[in-house]
Parts: sequence; structure tokens; C-alpha cells
Amino acid sequence: MISPALRILIVDDEKPNLVVLSNLLKTEAQITLASNGKAAIEKAQELKPDIILLDVVMPDQNGFEVIKQLKACEITRAIPVIFITALGDVASEETGFELGACDYISKPFHLGIVKARVKLHLTIARQCIMLEMLANVDPLTTIPNRRKFDEQLEAEWLIAQRNQQPLVLAMVDVDKFKQYNDHYGHAAGDKVLTQVAQALNKQLQRPRDFVARYGGEEFVIIIGDSDLSGAKAVLDNCRQAIEDLDIEHELSTHNKITISAGAIICTPNNGVTSVQALKQADTMLYQAKECGRNQVCWNE
Ligand SMILES: [Mg+2]
Repeated sequence: MISPALRILIVDDEKPNLVVLSNLLKTEAQITLASNGKAAIEKAQELKPDIILLDVVMPDQNGFEVIKQLKACEITRAIPVIFITALGDVASEETGFELGACDYISKPFHLGIVKARVKLHLTIARQCIMLEMLANVDPLTTIPNRRKFDEQLEAEWLIAQRNQQPLVLAMVDVDKFKQYNDHYGHAAGDKVLTQVAQALNKQLQRPRDFVARYGGEEFVIIIGDSDLSGAKAVLDNCRQAIEDLDIEHELSTHNKITISAGAIICTPNNGVTSVQALKQADTMLYQAKECGRNQVCWNE
């Protein structure tokens, strides 16, 4: 698997330092430069770099103030920060670590050591990205897995609760999938699951749309920030998109691969939990199956 290109943000008020460091590290990652604290925070939020090299002594905002802001912001909190600084005393180094830095390099620095340490932290950053992917992505279909869904549902539930906005949840199931697997073989079944996942994903492209593989031939959809008629259109497009894949299924009444879905729209309040909401969606899915499949049943 090819790792995505890593990005380093280098922050220093002295231009010669920026030049030396970027020349040193340009073969390891994409480099972005900032010459003061304000620009550093803006670029960190915009680019979400994998590592920040941060000078401490700078006019206006010093590096300690910058790291405090980075750690206080949801977007930049997790980005590893390495201080590179003329403040070589133990107390400053201790402060740097206390504020959340992952490393502290004193000036005058030895280029070989800086490169080795940055490479070490890039390796860790790469492993974190890989771990995050392994933990959150379903390997067969490459869409988010159930673990990621649980996390996403919790987050969306809180947002909807706070804003008193409705949230749409849908449980989706591939019709007669067991029969398909038995008849066409597991390799063909896996291919269908991948095609269905990708087709659903394509229909759910707005920022607060979300689809995950729930397990087996089941998928689950969250639509945040939508009204009932909008969500109905989206889910019917999903159902139609699977029908349009036109995958033969001799043992299905529709002669092709189709999906059934059970959907609910609810505004989270203290009386309802996300687990109960999901259960209701599952009940509606059962109804969609009972009513002949290839349809979406709603609990409004
Ligand atoms: Mg400086």
C-alpha cells in the first residue's frame, strides 16, 4: 500500500533557518513554511500537516503560545509538534514537553540529528495514519466499517441534539444475498458487496452524509442536516442506483441485485437513544422485506 505524501509545516521567524530546514527535509515530505505564530496556526488549520517544527523565540507570539492554541483547537490538537529552539535550558525543554510537544531540539542544531529525529516522527505519523485506516475502514469494500459508524453516529447524535435538528438513519440490506452467494459463489458475492458499497457511497457525497458496512450484507446510512423530503429523495436514489447496477440475480423476484432499506427520521432528545433509533430503523427494514423488497420503508 502506498502511503499518502506527508506534510511538514516549518515555523521560524528567521528566514535562513527556514531555508536550511526545508532543504534538509524536502526529500522526506511536502514542506510548508510560516514565519510567525499567526501564520503557523492558520496554515496548520488549513493544511493539517503531519508534523510541525516550531521555533520558540519569535516576536509577537512565541512558540509556547502557538502550541497552546494548536492543542486547544479540535482540528490541530493531534498534530505532533517538535520544538527547534535556541532555548537549550532544561526548564524550557520541560515546558515544551508539558505543553504537548513530542520532541525538543536545541539550537545550534546538528543537521543529521534533526533529520533523523524528524524521520522518526514521520514514521510514527505514517503508522498512525495506517492504524487509523485499519481501525476504521472495511477492507473488502473500502468504505467505513461498523466501528467508525458507531463513532460517527455518536458525534452526529450530539450535533443533532444540540441543534434540535432531525437526523435520518437507515439500515440497508442486499436482497436475497445468501441465495446469491450460494448460487454464484463467494467471490461473486464479495464483488457485489463492493459494487453496492461504492454505488451507495457515490449517492452520499454531502459533508454530513455517511455510509458504512454494518456487517455481512448490511449497510447503514446517516443523513445529517436534511429534511424528510430531501432524505427520501437521497435514499430512493440509493435504491435506484443499486437497481441500475443491473447485476443478474436469478433467484431474486426482481431478477437482479436490489436493496431494501428501513429508515427513520428523529430529533434526538432525552427520551430516545441512538441505539433505540437504530432498532426502529431495523424494524422498518424488516417491513421493507415483508412488503416485497427493493424499497425503502419509513418510520416518520
Ligand atoms: Mg526565532
